[in-house]
Amino acid sequence: MKLQSFAKNRWQQSAADGVQLVSAIDGGEIATSSSEGLDFGAMAHYARTTGGANLRKYTFHQRANMLKALAKYLMEHKKEFYALSARTGATRTDSWIDIDGGISTLFVFSSKGRREMPNDHVYVDGPPEFLSKKGSFVGQHIFLPLEGVAIHINAFNFPCWGMLEKLAPCLLAGMPAIVKPATSTSYLTEAMVRRIIESGILPDGAVQLICGSVGDLFDHLNCQDVIAFTGSKTTAELLQQHQTVIAQSVRFTAETDSLNASILGPDAQPGTAEFDLYIQEVVREMTVKAGQKCTAIRRIIAPAEFSGELVSALARALGKVRVGNPANKEVQMGPLASQGQRDEVRERIAELSGDADIIYGDLENFELIDADARKGAFFAPVLLHCQKPLTSRSVHSVEAFGPVSTVMPYDTLDEAITLARMGEGSLAGSIFTGDDEIAQTLALGIAPYHGRLVIINRDSAGESTGHGSPLPHLVHGGPGRAGGGEEMGGIRGVLHYMQRTALQGSPTTLGKIARRWIRGGKEHVDEAHPFTKYFEELEIGDTHHTASRKITVEDIENFAELSGDKFYAHMDDELAAKNPFFEARVAHGYFIVSMAAGLFVQPDFGPVLANYGLDDLRFAQPVYMGDELKVRLTCKQKTMREGEDYGEVRWDTEVSNQDGEIVAAYDVLTMVATRS
Ligand code: NAP
Repeated sequence: MKLQSFAKNRWQQSAADGVQLVSAIDGGEIATSSSEGLDFGAMAHYARTTGGANLRKYTFHQRANMLKALAKYLMEHKKEFYALSARTGATRTDSWIDIDGGISTLFVFSSKGRREMPNDHVYVDGPPEFLSKKGSFVGQHIFLPLEGVAIHINAFNFPCWGMLEKLAPCLLAGMPAIVKPATSTSYLTEAMVRRIIESGILPDGAVQLICGSVGDLFDHLNCQDVIAFTGSKTTAELLQQHQTVIAQSVRFTAETDSLNASILGPDAQPGTAEFDLYIQEVVREMTVKAGQKCTAIRRIIAPAEFSGELVSALARALGKVRVGNPANKEVQMGPLASQGQRDEVRERIAELSGDADIIYGDLENFELIDADARKGAFFAPVLLHCQKPLTSRSVHSVEAFGPVSTVMPYDTLDEAITLARMGEGSLAGSIFTGDDEIAQTLALGIAPYHGRLVIINRDSAGESTGHGSPLPHLVHGGPGRAGGGEEMGGIRGVLHYMQRTALQGSPTTLGKIARRWIRGGKEHVDEAHPFTKYFEELEIGDTHHTASRKITVEDIENFAELSGDKFYAHMDDELAAKNPFFEARVAHGYFIVSMAAGLFVQPDFGPVLANYGLDDLRFAQPVYMGDELKVRLTCKQKTMREGEDYGEVRWDTEVSNQDGEIVAAYDVLTMVATRS
């Protein structure tokens, strides 16, 4: 079978013979791959002009709905992905991480997009900045999708997840992508892209695929394009130095390798729950995906005092791991991705051997289940021990991308911190301790060198997602050796595909652009109360000014009685005056909010369905008996709910006193029916 690329809306097969892709289990040929003959410049142009233009017609919520539909569609076909995944050497668990993990990333981004982004084309970043005394000149940051193409270059170890974790935020942002999987496992990515295209869920040009090399694609990039790379540090450095990437300042995100550390706390002695959890996790991290995980634990940093017992426990647990053909149910660990990869791991172990001794594992002879060692890329777990990790270099810099990890003893917490930092930047780190003081010291000591840190003890272990699992909600990436990039992290990951622009101007003008009312902007006041208007009829800026109400002692006492809140500052003049913020008894803040609703609510049956909360509530000034309060309520933002017969309306609300001072400010959140 010849793999095909999907370029300019059609599947294209190269006339060239291409690279042979073989099964990791028995060396049998699966496919050949070549991208020779593709017009890479035309692909980039098609993505920008057709894909980008198509995607940007939709709102964030509409694109989020596409991700959900796509996730459901891929779920229906996952059986075929599992069958292909097995040929990469993956066990069922490994495939689950790659396939189900990838699809669930689509679901999470879909849900976050609908909950955390507007049903609109502009994403507003933070509140306005008030830049002038009178409020007629303000600033507002907004994000819009970049108008170029995102080039997604992925590593061989996660042919599905690697693609989907990049595609989800990219498509949600409104940017088209050209996916380039690592060649050795690209047959699985190709199969998934076929399903994505055939689903018809994405508009033309949203996704293209290159099976084979990227040719001269980089020569055609410009300032609106993005490269999101996952792979080795060496390749990342090479690509970052491409002349066009430098000259056009092409946005480049790199997720590279790292020598991830896991620290066992000095309290986690043998016999404690944390010690047992540590053994379990290290063995899992060494053997899932046969250790071919960028986040796998490579450095086991453990108290010298009981590192001997730790090594024995690890050796016992690793001894139970059965290596072989993943199709056999007895097997816990499959082969590496290819024999070339196996040779490379052996070479890296030889480099590590200058600083560390092999204390468990045999590079050549090990029990193999249901497989032929000569044909497959099998390799058994190897545990090394470094006696003097503070003065050794290779154990902190050489990545053996397989089931290989090194034990490093430490005497003090400072030493453990120094060792973890010697990895010079990691994707993920973990700390196993039941002592929160130790957790705090270690976490603050190593966090600047890590993209993600997980702290595991007996309380969190049961539900923990573990050391090595990147999650769509949290950032994936790390400083230094890990590439200096960041992906996912919820909406943060979407923003990598968008441009932030600081706008300056009048609140009315900026409100028009950002599609939300900004304080100081023009108000539309008409006779109809805004609560009588249906969603479509409401306009941003529609405002209601209420009559005023005088606050009395009865109000305060009745509210104290009703709520049960008899805090002294509401009940006793003398005591209240001792408080540095008050001169006398003050009204309850919650009473102010309640009486404000009494002033602005239009009580008749109508389009407003419910109030579902308040945002950003601040009490700015005390309210004393005799104060006269009134409210301004302005329609600030409208978000239509896709597929529903109502939308969300946010109201900018200010309560002011007789001197025009703001005493309370907040956003009221309502659901408002559509007339249709
Ligand atoms: P790699 O050799 O660096 O390849 C990564 C990707 O870059 C592949 O798609 C590869 O395509 C492509 N590539 C290589 N040379 C290129 C060039 N000159 N121009 C354009 N593209 C080029 O890494 P790998 O062996 O696939 O993956 C293993 C490494 O990735 C490990 O070091 C691991 O730690 C790291 N990794 C990191 C993460 C992370 O999230 N940080 C995740 C997984 C893996 P070809 O296959 O066609 O050469």
